[in-house]
This record gives sequence, C-alpha cells and structure tokens, in this order.
Amino acid sequence: MPGGQPGPQRATDQAPALTEPSRAYAELADGNRRFVSGAPRHPNQGAEHRAAVADGQHPFAVIVGCSDSRLAAEIIFDRGLGDLFVVRTAGHIVGPEVLGSVEYAVTVLGTPLVVVLGHDSCGAVQAAREAAATGTAPVGHLRAVVDAVLPSLRRATTEGVDDIDGIVDIHIAQTVETLLGQSPVLAEAVEQGRCAVVGMSYRLAIGGVRPVTAVPVGAATLDVPSVPDGPAATAAA
Ligand SMILES: [Zn+2]
Repeated sequence: MPGGQPGPQRATDQAPALTEPSRAYAELADGNRRFVSGAPRHPNQGAEHRAAVADGQHPFAVIVGCSDSRLAAEIIFDRGLGDLFVVRTAGHIVGPEVLGSVEYAVTVLGTPLVVVLGHDSCGAVQAAREAAATGTAPVGHLRAVVDAVLPSLRRATTEGVDDIDGIVDIHIAQTVETLLGQSPVLAEAVEQGRCAVVGMSYRLAIGGVRPVTAVPVGAATLDVPSVPDGPAATAAA
C-alpha cells in the first residue's frame, strides 16, 4: 500500500486534509445528503485528481462496512479517490486482517474517523438468525460469518429485540465495541482524541445513513443531524 507521509496538499476539488473526527463525520454526512437528494457532485474522481493522489493517500475516514453490493462506500457518501479507506466483509465481521487494516489507516495514514457501516435487511444477520433458530450451521466458510454475528443475536435476545433491523443496530454497536476491545491501538487513538468510532446504519431503499452509536459517547460527531430520509423513512424499523 502507498504510504501516507504528510505532504503538501495537491488539491484539485479536494478540501484540505481533514484531521478532526467531527469534521470528517460532517464531510461524510454532507456527501450522503447529496447522494440521497439525487444531486451528487462525484468529487475527486477526475483524471487530474487521480494523478494528484498517486504518490500518497490521506483518507479522512475508514469504512468498515458490510460487503453487500448495494453499500458501495464512495457512491453512498459521494466521495472519490483517496477519500475513504474501505474494509468490507459480509456482516462487517471483524478478524485480524480487518483490525490490521483499520490500524494501518489510523496510525500510518492518520485517518481521524472509523465508521462501522451496517444496513437494514442485512443478509449476514438474517443468516445468523436462521442458523440460531434452526440449530443448523451453514456449510463452508460461511459458518465463520454466522459465528461472528451470533454474539450480537444473543445480545439482542437479552435486550428483548427481535426485529431484524433492531438486531442490525445491535450488531453495529457490537462491532464498534469489538473494534475497540480487540485493538488497543485504536482504543488509544480514541483516548487521545485523534480518532472517533461511529456506528451507522444505511437504508437500502432510501440511501440515507443514520448514526447508531459513537465513541467517545456524546462526541461532536453525533451533533451532526442524521440525514433526512424522506417520506418512507418515518416508518423505519
Ligand atoms: Zn449486510
């Protein structure tokens, strides 16, 4: 991977490097609003910008998202090359490679925001729910995905939550806790105020994201209003 040594900004249509978690969050929220409203700017996608970022990257957010094909990070946040450091697995499950990738972005590239991005009707969560209900394990390596989601299902049961999107919210929060619990490097960055971790849920039909949880709790990052979802959103699960 290209290194991330600080250097002069060679911006085209790119804003100065974002180093504050709250500003990085605001940038993501702005991009998502543009996407939802059908007025994306597609920033940082031209040939000039491609050349400008070829010798170094300064992404302002890490996205630890579900692999779902409808959750393409640069599209839903209306960003371009060099903006987002994206790690995606089915059900945004976390293993050593995910942790290492997040730590690379936070420590080497200085990325100030980590977003766990889940979504409604998540197939990985549904698969885990089905496996738990029937007592059958899926074949092959899919079992690893299901096994990683099961603790969130147990937590949902304990909390009396049984609708799929409520379980997804719990799984998003659980993933945030897993990242911080298993990565002392990330936890230290948060402790020192260099980074924040925010869990967000995306609505497939609407295209909007809303914050589910944030560390540090009450961080300025959550002061940014969630995206207005439009008429259908008021019936959110
Ligand atoms: Zn999913």
